[in-house]
Amino acid sequence: MIRLALAVTFVPALLAAQSPPPDLIVTNAIIYTADSAHPRAEALAVSGDRLVFVGTTAAVTALAGPATNRIDAGGRPLYPGFIDAHAHLRNLSLILATLDLRGVPSYDSVVALVAVNAARAVPGSWIRGRGWDQNLWGTAFPTNALLSRATPDNPVYLRRVDGHAALVNQAALRLAGITRNTPDPPGGRIVHDANGEPTGLLIDQAFMLAERAIPPDDPAQMQAMTLPAIAEANRHGLTGIHDAGIGPNELAAYESLARDGRFNLRSYAMIYGGSDTSAFLAQQLALGPRPALYNGHLWLRAIKIEFDGAMGSRGAALLEPYTDDPGNVGLFRIPPAQVERIAVLALQSGFQMCTHAIGDRANRVALDIYASALRQVPAADHRFRVEHAQLLTPQDIPRFAAMGVIPSMQGSHQTSDMSWIENRIGPVRVQWAYVWRSLRNTGVIIPNGSDAPVESINPLVSFHSFITRQDADNQPPGGWFPDQRLTREEAFLGMTQWPARASFMENDVGSLSAGKYADFVILDQDIMTVPASQVLATRVLRTVLGGKTVYEAR
Ligand SMILES: [Zn+2]
Repeated sequence: MIRLALAVTFVPALLAAQSPPPDLIVTNAIIYTADSAHPRAEALAVSGDRLVFVGTTAAVTALAGPATNRIDAGGRPLYPGFIDAHAHLRNLSLILATLDLRGVPSYDSVVALVAVNAARAVPGSWIRGRGWDQNLWGTAFPTNALLSRATPDNPVYLRRVDGHAALVNQAALRLAGITRNTPDPPGGRIVHDANGEPTGLLIDQAFMLAERAIPPDDPAQMQAMTLPAIAEANRHGLTGIHDAGIGPNELAAYESLARDGRFNLRSYAMIYGGSDTSAFLAQQLALGPRPALYNGHLWLRAIKIEFDGAMGSRGAALLEPYTDDPGNVGLFRIPPAQVERIAVLALQSGFQMCTHAIGDRANRVALDIYASALRQVPAADHRFRVEHAQLLTPQDIPRFAAMGVIPSMQGSHQTSDMSWIENRIGPVRVQWAYVWRSLRNTGVIIPNGSDAPVESINPLVSFHSFITRQDADNQPPGGWFPDQRLTREEAFLGMTQWPARASFMENDVGSLSAGKYADFVILDQDIMTVPASQVLATRVLRTVLGGKTVYEAR
């Protein structure tokens, strides 16, 4: 006991005596470590890409040598690097590299933006865009008529903000071979007008018909497009991202960037398991879990499944029909039996399942599938996840904790959806939408994500939603179903420790503890103490990944 106490007391002195001085020290900070053993500190020391000591400014300064780099934080708050537990880096790259239609206030404006781009483009080349949302326009879903009139010569492909629908023009319908006689593909819907003609709106799997007609980006293009997306994440204080579904082309691009030391994130990249016969999935399962590739920049041990659609496009699978579309209960994009086969394969190969489930039917069936797969292949520490878990029934809420399933949720979905969600599901079911507090009270962790580019990649947007149930303008007063708020401490864990645990990375990231990666962020104000209404005014001053500054405010 005495020896242990001495060892703890003299850690800085021992480090100074036995190890070379650290490469970097940061002093004079208000540090929130997210480490419950030592929640607060003033300073930290970094050797290589790891933290070697976290403590007082005096103790850390004593470790420094002549070659040690020093950052004086000037009394600013410092936190573990933020981790986005659900985002889509490739789609963020696309939105940065193509037409960004997020927030565009009318369909006329979308049509005009596309026409301007088409006028500058090579005739016949595809015009791609992403981010439109008819809920902002106060109209029903658009049809292609206006778009096709304004842009007749270039095929146009515009994904909806939630990624679950696309609007295409006549030229794109032609190239995709979609006619009035084309049947709906499994898990998708080609929307038709009163005369039976396709309107250009393609729901869920149906947009793959158009996507397959678009020439793919070559690997060099893909790498070049990824870098601005990584920079955007770093600019918002992110050092980690759970990439919710990548294919072979994304993986090749990320590996190539990581090999060259240009992938400035720790990516927990989920293998997109489109079907149980996917060659890419089989190849990755055969390789087995591969954590911490390329000095901890890429982690491969999870499978992503897109089980149902989304609420915005009425594709989320519901137990009872949509209140505003009485014939429709949504859809499964993959048959449940196939999801179960993939879950069994995952357990046999040591992989985690991350299943997108939004509607109450999708959530119930996903939990049933997990239970059945776990009976076939028992696993003590599977940490299976449900991505979104937006609408639940009261009887399904406790099943997450009971089964050890993690609900991976997105604060910003609640604040973006609250103005129209009750139209979709009515006044009774709406009480069971985005039920963070009800879930948390059962004992689960709730890693928070942005679902960027569906929402902003800024993690503070979802942090703010978690603690207020209010949008960026702090509306509505008092918050939307405010009983479902989380505490600030929980919201902080939701972008640090909880994503770390949800990705089996808790020994490497998620808190500022000696031995973990030196991933941290310095902000201009303390998000743990400023009034909640001020959180979104916070600026990131510096983002550090593995001891290397990857973003610094001018
Ligand atoms: Zn997503």
